[in-house]
Amino acid sequence: MVKLAFLGTGAAFSLERYNGAVVVEGRLLLDAGAPLLHHMHRLDIDPGRIEAVFLTHFHGDHALGLPTFLLYRAFHPSGPLPLLGPPGIADWVEQLCRLAWHEDWPGFRERARVTYHEAAPSGRIAGVRYESLALDHGSMECRGYRLHLDGRVLAYAGDTVVSPALERLVEGADVAITEATSPHPSGVHTSWEQAQALAARHPGTRFVFNHVAAGHPPGAARDLEVIEV
Ligand SMILES: [Zn+2]
Repeated sequence: MVKLAFLGTGAAFSLERYNGAVVVEGRLLLDAGAPLLHHMHRLDIDPGRIEAVFLTHFHGDHALGLPTFLLYRAFHPSGPLPLLGPPGIADWVEQLCRLAWHEDWPGFRERARVTYHEAAPSGRIAGVRYESLALDHGSMECRGYRLHLDGRVLAYAGDTVVSPALERLVEGADVAITEATSPHPSGVHTSWEQAQALAARHPGTRFVFNHVAAGHPPGAARDLEVIEV
């Protein structure tokens, strides 16, 4: 079983849902859009036990929860905190946190034991073997991840259109978290219908959809929902 806690499941300017973030097994954070600390607390997840953060891309709805989460880690010293993401992750997070915490940030970064890692095609972080694939999200670099968790494979896409790379990302996975943004097709996101068709092409994989703009497509998670799959 893999335990997934959805801190947020909404698209960028959803009126109904928080921005996206998922905690896996209480120890891996996938994207960082939601009010991370409050929602972890509500789900009884200890922010100090997060061992790694996987960012799919640098749009605000996937990452703006980081500054306060990282500050918590600075003031509640715990283990090292590797942040993994597309090329440029160090520059982007540094700019974000310097904007948030000014000249105090370098000291906070050190206390939080933050390190930056550009996603490789395959690698290991916090003891977790992963693969990453480049996905198609318009002009924004986006990475999807396949995480190997005690013999089970979790695929996590972030934002993307349906593409051959997305098909490869979810191929053979036990669980896949992919987006179902709106009923309408777009050039940068997966529509509800496209999400259902993707799932139908991979019947052996349990799909959970997120990044919903409004309404509730079949198979979507809800904010603060915890699923064991
Ligand atoms: Zn995006």
